[in-house]
Amino acid sequence: NIWQQKWVIGNWKMNGQLQENNSLVHKLRSFQTVPNVCIGITPPTVYLLQVHNAVQIVLNNPIYTCAQDVSRFSEKGAYTGEVSAEMMRDVGVDIILIGHSERSLYFNEKNDVQRQKIENVLKVGLIPLLCVGESLKEREDGREKEAVAYQLSVFKGLKTKNFAIAYEPVWAIGTGKVANREQIADMHQFIYDEVLSLCGNDANIRVLYGGSVNDKNAADIFSVPHVDGALVGGASLKYEAFAAIINAAQ
Ligand code: PEP
Repeated sequence: NIWQQKWVIGNWKMNGQLQENNSLVHKLRSFQTVPNVCIGITPPTVYLLQVHNAVQIVLNNPIYTCAQDVSRFSEKGAYTGEVSAEMMRDVGVDIILIGHSERSLYFNEKNDVQRQKIENVLKVGLIPLLCVGESLKEREDGREKEAVAYQLSVFKGLKTKNFAIAYEPVWAIGTGKVANREQIADMHQFIYDEVLSLCGNDANIRVLYGGSVNDKNAADIFSVPHVDGALVGGASLKYEAFAAIINAAQ
């Protein structure tokens, strides 16, 4: 049951090429028997099928194929450039990131669009992984919880019991700055409480931490209460680093 496992999800962002993807994924397949860790790889859309085919071949503990984004439109049709949740499911995607801070930063994506995307993902039976996190300014102003609560409000009234969230303070993404143990513990507890109050006590919840997780700091981060895994950017592109993070999650 993945709702009781630690999740280690690599987000490749806009990186990768056929050959290097293949060699990275083939090395990672040796980790498919790691107990109690849900491993995911999130390649650019154009490589989803390649990654899915490469991870599928083996054993009992799968590597999940994840997508970085999805269309807010659910029906097929005249939406040039878009890829629907149904198409993601068709090529073997399991989990779809929603609302990564780079989507808000560069594409001005807000709660209403994220809500539509989450609904589309749930409708086709896949798992949305909602990314939340405050900006540096919001933390300096002491408004980090207010910011995260607002982002989490997209869950209100959804017809699901399963909630996957990545807490990624924007100031810690790709910067080498990691939130400290107290900041992580405090926010993860807050996210649990918020989701339970929005969505009911029988919710399944996974809260991953994201923001400059690497092979050196992963074990420490995983030992913080209510940290159910990590969303890993930069370090997921290097086999040794990503493998070490998976090992630290066991
Ligand atoms: C991310 O993109 O979700 C992320 C956490 O990136 P990085 O690990 O590179 O900070």
